[in-house]
Amino acid sequence: MFKTKTKIVGTLSNFRKDKKILKELISEGMDVIRLNFSHMNLDDADVLIKNVKEIRREMNIPLAIMLDTKGPEVRIYGHKEKVKLEKSDIITISSYIKKDLENKISPENLHFYTNLPDLPKLVKIGSRVLLMDGFIEGLVKEIDSEKIHVEILNNGALRPKAHLSIPNLHYDLDFLSEKDIHDITYAVKNDLEYIALSFVQSSDDIFQVKQLIREVDMDANIKLISKIENKFAINNLDEIIRYSDGVMVARGDLGVELPLEEVPIMQKKIIRNCYLSGKPVITATQMLESMIDNRVPTRAEASDVANACYDLTSAVMLSGETAVGNFPALVVRTMERIIRKVEASFDYSAIYHKSRRLMDSRDLTTIISYNAVATATQSQAAAIIVFSTSGYSAQQISKLRPGLPVYTFTPNEKIYNQLALNWGIFPYLIEEEIDFEDMLSHALKICEDENLLKKDDMVVIVAGLPLGAKGRTNMIRVETIGKSSIAGRAVCKGSATGQIVHIRDENDLKTKDLTGKVIVLQTFKQQYTNYLRYINGIVMEGSEFESSLQILGMAYNIPILLDAFANLSSIKEGVLVEINSKKQLVIEI
Ligand code: PGA
Ligand code: MN
Repeated sequence: MFKTKTKIVGTLSNFRKDKKILKELISEGMDVIRLNFSHMNLDDADVLIKNVKEIRREMNIPLAIMLDTKGPEVRIYGHKEKVKLEKSDIITISSYIKKDLENKISPENLHFYTNLPDLPKLVKIGSRVLLMDGFIEGLVKEIDSEKIHVEILNNGALRPKAHLSIPNLHYDLDFLSEKDIHDITYAVKNDLEYIALSFVQSSDDIFQVKQLIREVDMDANIKLISKIENKFAINNLDEIIRYSDGVMVARGDLGVELPLEEVPIMQKKIIRNCYLSGKPVITATQMLESMIDNRVPTRAEASDVANACYDLTSAVMLSGETAVGNFPALVVRTMERIIRKVEASFDYSAIYHKSRRLMDSRDLTTIISYNAVATATQSQAAAIIVFSTSGYSAQQISKLRPGLPVYTFTPNEKIYNQLALNWGIFPYLIEEEIDFEDMLSHALKICEDENLLKKDDMVVIVAGLPLGAKGRTNMIRVETIGKSSIAGRAVCKGSATGQIVHIRDENDLKTKDLTGKVIVLQTFKQQYTNYLRYINGIVMEGSEFESSLQILGMAYNIPILLDAFANLSSIKEGVLVEINSKKQLVIEI
């Protein structure tokens, strides 16, 4: 299956937990599943996570699960049904921070509560109050000691527990609510790949979460995506990127908290800063919003997805479109089609030339990664193959947005699934081996079996040797695929190289130059013994005189491969080969 380099994050919900629909969404190209814990109940989450984990194993594909926290949200309470508000209505809001807030019903019409403490002290006459993500707007008209009075500026139906936002206000709420502590613990215990943190305002918020995760499990490997959704996060963008594993351009809340016209500029800035740091960045919200109800997106939405790709976002996200919309599979397919077309039009060489200027690092992994991309790009290789223990080298290569696929092999299942989010990275799970050559031939075989590479394709290989050492990327190597190799059975130890000479009879032995050669025998005869001192190795189709050959091989110290499983006459005379007894192969070199 050909996959796009820009990844797709899809939000699921209580309505999307059956295996059938999950499989469909994944087949259409969803790489990361987001569970929005503002709206999810735990029993449904349990089922969803179990199903997704089973499916990704069954389908043998990498897929990341991301829990998105509710975050320190400010909401409006006190009503159980929608309340119709009209222009010029005056509503009253008071702070109420007790535990029964969620279920408290206001005795008066148009009197509401909020979980934001000390509301009357926070606002001024004339402050803007936005309800339901800005769909209903109000202005503070009067401030009492216990409550504020807000004039409504447009008609609208206020949903229960709707968002309340006062732009530019530094909310005095703990970053981690009880619910968030519970949900983050849940993510760690369920061994999920990512947590998306809502309303991060500074690096302190991230440190709090890291501390909590350590308390739950010292060895947890769960990556943190900070959602940039208000002015404070924008002001602290650099430190937030530095201490997160990635960020999300959360345009939904950003568009409420900032003037709308600033959002596109911020989107570009966040994406750029993030990919320059080599961290994944997700562009989110309303990307194909109209497809919640319609079978085709608006032209503007199609362009929005395309432009995020041109900005080099790592991933684009679907929210309601997949979580509650009418055409979840179609919407993923549509997004995938748009991405595919855009990526085909990318000027990768321009991106590569730009990326050269970004190479401002003494970090060896970064230097090697850059040079691997340079080698691969300039030599028109078919792919880069990375062996990554921690995922770091794959991430450094992804940062350069190379035009060729990056097949990443890791023995660590968690990292395999986490890398599903990274731009241009196609992860494969591989068994850990002690010998690098074994691991490499295993990886190349996977590439050939999956039709990722074909004969004569050149690949650039990046690894850290010895294997398994984290953060030690130190090798670039170039290989060509499909140099023929023939399997057999080694009867002596050792390896040797030499040009192929075909021997049909004793006359061939007399007339041909044997010195330093690997001879291919149809069968062995006793009188051949005299010639063995000249040659470097023997390959034979059958296994006649096996014990004599074994003794001779040891005496002359030459490797011998019997039962060579192939049409040996197809190997041309003069071709240079290696007999590798350990791998039991004759390999064209
Ligand atoms: P949300 O986050 O969907 O959890 O609100 C994304 C956004 O605000 O854009
Ligand atoms: Mn949000």
